[in-house]
Amino acid sequence: MTSTLPTVHSVEPPVTELPQQVRLTGDDFIRPHLKKLSPYQAILPFEVLSSQLGMKPEDIIKLDANESPYGPPPEVYEALGQLKFPYVYPDPECRRLRELLAEQSGLESEYILAGCGADELIDLIMRCVLEPGDKMIVCPPTFTMYEFDAAVNAALTVKVRRNSDFSLNTDLIEDAVRREKPKCIFLTTPNNPDGSVIDDETLLKILELPVLVVLDEAYIEFSGTESRMQWVKNYENLIVLRTFSKRAGLAGLRVGYGAFPQSIIKYFWRAKQPYNVSVAAEVAACAALQNPTYLENVKNALIQERERLYHLLKNEVPFLNPFPSRSNFILCEVTAGKNPKKIKEDLGKMGLMIRHYDSKDLRNYVRFTVGKPEHTDVIMKCLQLLS
Ligand SMILES: *Cc1c(COP(=O)(O)O)cnc(C)c1O
Repeated sequence: MTSTLPTVHSVEPPVTELPQQVRLTGDDFIRPHLKKLSPYQAILPFEVLSSQLGMKPEDIIKLDANESPYGPPPEVYEALGQLKFPYVYPDPECRRLRELLAEQSGLESEYILAGCGADELIDLIMRCVLEPGDKMIVCPPTFTMYEFDAAVNAALTVKVRRNSDFSLNTDLIEDAVRREKPKCIFLTTPNNPDGSVIDDETLLKILELPVLVVLDEAYIEFSGTESRMQWVKNYENLIVLRTFSKRAGLAGLRVGYGAFPQSIIKYFWRAKQPYNVSVAAEVAACAALQNPTYLENVKNALIQERERLYHLLKNEVPFLNPFPSRSNFILCEVTAGKNPKKIKEDLGKMGLMIRHYDSKDLRNYVRFTVGKPEHTDVIMKCLQLLS
């Protein structure tokens, strides 16, 4: 039997037009509401500024993001240097940290959940509470992260302006709750950027409304007022947020926590990223809590310096009108026709970083984070050069 190999003919493919391929670009995959999102206005990292200015990072005075110039207690550096298990995933429940927080706050650990900064918890609250198109109230001027996270979560922000002394306007808040039917309201005490606090009467009035109240206490240690963490046992519509970033000096390690009613926290445990707090962050936060004397001294030093800076700004700078603050920063109205952006830029060239505000919510202001006494002296010397 002879096998004949088939003869291979070269066949020309028929010349027909292929259907026009639709070429997708990266843009086509992105959710429509995110295409309109403007990025969060983060502050310039000081390494970037220092290379721009040709200065060493340690020579830059960073008073633009309310970090503690004293940093964390020495126990934190020690504990981080001795990390034994950085290669093992962290405890998803942050048991050790929550136990210490419970001891320190008097609120049992079942009400407490930790996060990668309070910022993560703000986003987690929104992801758990807001459907796309739902509404949420903020009271500007305030922390702009709330509005940013709402936009990321496709929720709508309803703004209820504050009174001219930055206190909350409860009548306007009540109207807005009835008219707009928001799911939640974000309140901040002391408020960033002005440093005003919310009294019990005002908070109780707002807690009566049919809305979830998120009370952000990022700066509560500086206020001389008690935390409302315990209140979550009595108010099922209250969440209280705290952080290690400000007074405890751990902004770079990202660790915050919240107090939640039992009826809410169970869902948050399900929805959160399992390993949201890193091993280093939990170890550092626990170590910081081990030195309450250090934390108390830092708080007292910053409060004392806040008062000194306030009086110097008030009495010696003709173009700034500072507001009394219960936090570790001072907001100043810029007067005498001076420009806040120019002030910030001129101080930046001298190696002094501050915040300026020139938006619809807050026009013509600058904010100084309170630093060490020598930082106050530099502020005053630099401002004199601008007069
Ligand atoms: C700084 C700040 C936070 C952020 O805290 P992290 O724990 O660093 O995320 C939250 N709320 C307000 C009002 C702040 O100013």
